[in-house]
Amino acid sequence: MQPEYDLTDAQKKAYEDNEANFGDLEKQIRSFEEAANSRLAASGLRFDPDARYCYLCPCREFEGADIRCARSTCGHSMIRHHGFL
Ligand SMILES: [Zn+2]
Ligand SMILES: [Zn+2]
Repeated sequence: MQPEYDLTDAQKKAYEDNEANFGDLEKQIRSFEEAANSRLAASGLRFDPDARYCYLCPCREFEGADIRCARSTCGHSMIRHHGFL
């Protein structure tokens, strides 16, 4: 955050509260990802941990720059792929 924005205390508080909420959300997503990876591994699916594979389908690498994967067989959103957090 840049000091020249000259935020009021209420505005700073709003950003801090947002930060706390998004921090909690990230923790939750990480725990979902852990569970998702365990399920994939338990069912015999192995993925390259550096690849941006999909948790919902056999897409091995997120494609494109959009919020959704450009692969016609996938189309799942970025957050449903590994490696975006
Ligand atoms: Zn995909
Ligand atoms: Zn997919």
